[in-house]
Amino acid sequence: MAALDGLPPLRETIQRHGLDARKALGQNFLLDLNLTQKVARTAGALEDVTVFEVGPGPGGLTRAILALGAKKVVAVERDARCLPALAEIADHYPGRLEVIEGDALKIDFEALAADGPVKIIANLPYNVGTQLLVNWLLPKAWPPFWQSLTLMFQKEVGERIVASQDDDHYGRLGVLAGWRTNARMAFDIPPQAFTPPPKVTSTVVHLTPNENPIPCSVANLEKVTQAAFGQRRKMLRQSLKPLGGESLLVKAGIDPARRAETLSVEEFCRLANSL
Ligand code: SAM
Repeated sequence: MAALDGLPPLRETIQRHGLDARKALGQNFLLDLNLTQKVARTAGALEDVTVFEVGPGPGGLTRAILALGAKKVVAVERDARCLPALAEIADHYPGRLEVIEGDALKIDFEALAADGPVKIIANLPYNVGTQLLVNWLLPKAWPPFWQSLTLMFQKEVGERIVASQDDDHYGRLGVLAGWRTNARMAFDIPPQAFTPPPKVTSTVVHLTPNENPIPCSVANLEKVTQAAFGQRRKMLRQSLKPLGGESLLVKAGIDPARRAETLSVEEFCRLANSL
């Protein structure tokens, strides 16, 4: 893609700006621009779309998103060392890349979503990825400000996001994602595709909002999933004791002898609504 966008190869950018990867910032860079394009393409059409990206780093994914025609990219990066490299990309695509230096966990993304459709695409830093996803899944109002989330996670986290009942990976993330979205794993990326390589395989997860999720309070759903999966091997009459135990389960029409992982998303919503 160096030829395609006319910018220098990422390896050179990294060397020139001294961007040696920092573990504490979850820095595993994707330098293969064919792969970053594959990730960006998973988000579907990008024309007329504003893309929010978390952690652009040296800008491999950012470049792919811009080359695929996104109207604008708003990228939040915590590491100030990356800013000069990102400024080069911004110069190459005048008016189409805005970089915000800061911690994505403290950014109000909804307030940044001005006009037109928004998609979120990111190779997330492993230490804040799950929290960011939960923040995007749990606004009070639904449908959310975003049209889709295309996110890279450690594969094990991806499996938890797409898991449904009776699956070993099913837990709080699977319930929250299953309640409000259609989530699927798009493809895996092996460790050696990254610099430096992480210990585990990564996966790209694509989520689109479920238009009509079962009406249910976010706070109550959080309470029941936390309690139920906090002691996932126990019967629900035991794990849900602090929330009413057997009487709550009877009210929701659920057998108190069942275990958390056997409940569907719909049954978790019934529990939340019975609280
Ligand atoms: N997008 C680049 C790529 O695909 O090669 C880099 C991805 S790397 C896995 C994660 C990036 O997130 C790093 O650039 C890191 O500095 C940045 N980062 C880490 N914590 C962050 C935070 N709390 N807010 C914003 N960016 C963060």
